Amino acid sequence: MPLVSSTSLLKKARQEGYCIAAFNVHTLEMLQAVVDAAEEAQSPLILQSTVGTVKHLGADYIVAAATVASNRAGIPIVLHLDHCTEFETIIQCIRAGYTSVMIDASMHSFEENVARTKRVVEIAGAVGVNVEAELGKVGGVEDEIVVADHEALMADPEECRVFVERTGVPTLAPAIGTAHGMYKGDPKIDFDRIGQIANLVDTPLVLHGGSGIPNAQVKRAVSLGMAKMNVATELRIAFSDAIKKIFAEHPEENDPRKYMVPAKQAVRALALEKIRLCGSNGKA
Ligand SMILES: [Zn+2]
Repeated sequence: MPLVSSTSLLKKARQEGYCIAAFNVHTLEMLQAVVDAAEEAQSPLILQSTVGTVKHLGADYIVAAATVASNRAGIPIVLHLDHCTEFETIIQCIRAGYTSVMIDASMHSFEENVARTKRVVEIAGAVGVNVEAELGKVGGVEDEIVVADHEALMADPEECRVFVERTGVPTLAPAIGTAHGMYKGDPKIDFDRIGQIANLVDTPLVLHGGSGIPNAQVKRAVSLGMAKMNVATELRIAFSDAIKKIFAEHPEENDPRKYMVPAKQAVRALALEKIRLCGSNGKA
């Protein structure tokens, strides 16, 4: 089937109390690995690329690879643009065939965030593309966006309600204490805040910084209303570690197929684990 929008998939996930894992992929092998995992689990899947990966590979290449995967697979697959601050890039990706986009205007004032998000919601909505927006600031490093921990700002529940009402955004990523990258200790997730936000908005909520959150904490966040969980760093580590291991044992290796196969297997195994943790297996 063709690539689909995530709006109805995420709505269903929120209503039924499970979560859909969204995987950031950077190579064809990573994309194939997470698609294989989702097919085995019979789970809906969200493929994501950051703006950096769009610049690295080209939106058209990414859309072409995701479309082939979607046509081959018997599960719904979404192609989402992660953390985009530029209106032009969002429109270019929609035009190339992305079925979901994130407008991240969280670094601006509340009013400016509302205005920028609303503009994208109107345009994307007209062509059936899902939109995700962020309130508060998620800590850590995501491509070129750096947020110092002391700057990480939690989303205010009442502001979330007003934001959703004014923008009509179908998916909301409120900052609730997670961070991008791997955690140094355990993440300090504000579960009370997730509950308060979920009580005020019935929009599916998105958990950013999903790499390295202990399983019990992921389950708790999902039970409170998180319907999408982003996993990027952990997947990259699994992919790279598998390749490093091959070269440590066989420094003379020069056939990409020899080191890409174990890398793919490592990503596939981790993706399957995350899908099961999210509870979306069997929901395709
Ligand atoms: Zn993020």
